[in-house]
Amino acid sequence: MTSTARIPLVLGNWKMHTSLAEAHELARMTGEAAARHPEVEVGLLPPYPWIVPLAEALGTEPAVRVGAQDIAAETAGAFTGDVAAEMLAPYVRFMLVGHSERRHGHGETDAEVRAKLDAVYRVDRIPVLAVGETEEERQAGRAVDVVTRQLAAALNDRPSAALETLVVAYEPVWAIGTGQAATPDDTSEMAGVVRSLLHQLDQAAAERTRILYGGSVKADNARAFFAVPDIDGGLVGGASLDARAFTGIIAAAGVDGG
Ligand code: PEP
Repeated sequence: MTSTARIPLVLGNWKMHTSLAEAHELARMTGEAAARHPEVEVGLLPPYPWIVPLAEALGTEPAVRVGAQDIAAETAGAFTGDVAAEMLAPYVRFMLVGHSERRHGHGETDAEVRAKLDAVYRVDRIPVLAVGETEEERQAGRAVDVVTRQLAAALNDRPSAALETLVVAYEPVWAIGTGQAATPDDTSEMAGVVRSLLHQLDQAAAERTRILYGGSVKADNARAFFAVPDIDGGLVGGASLDARAFTGIIAAAGVDGG
């Protein structure tokens, strides 16, 4: 599935779902699945209020780590409703920026996404940068241009060390939460575009950047995505809320492909 240098990564984005009790149960079951696949790195991105209790319940050497679905770019100040990377850093390993529900639902610009990425590097956590084209952009033949623009805006002039920890999630907007996943061929083409842009930034570091596919990944299609050479795992929304489905996806990312 992946170059031996890149550890497969499966992230579950819970969005604004789960009660606290459900979150604990889902994290426990995901932790059991992750423990059976130590070759796969597994993370959960719960709603903000569950981050601290879950991180505390999972303990110091958990098989599954917690992440944030979004962060503020600023360190502190009069930003009602925002949460700073510095506040989250003690509890999380991953910080997602640029998810399409932030770009399109909340009008986040490429410049804002870049500023949020700066914040992740400031607190030394693993940044997960989501990029992807809308259906309209794909139909207009602009998918490659859009993804290239989003990546360049976020990554130009970064030091090579920044690319080594980076995770890029390629998520075609039309595939998110729709049940209409991209094909492994489309995904392969776009992952190749991402990898070659990373190469232009830094040849060696680009080989260490993990690229995930996201968009209606399920237990029964995950293996085909993870078999794409440039894909190193998945960013999973809906299916991460179903312990059995997410367990299948974690297994598909493992050595034997489930
Ligand atoms: C996502 O939220 O990033 C996502 C890919 O969702 P889903 O798996 O439900 O399409």
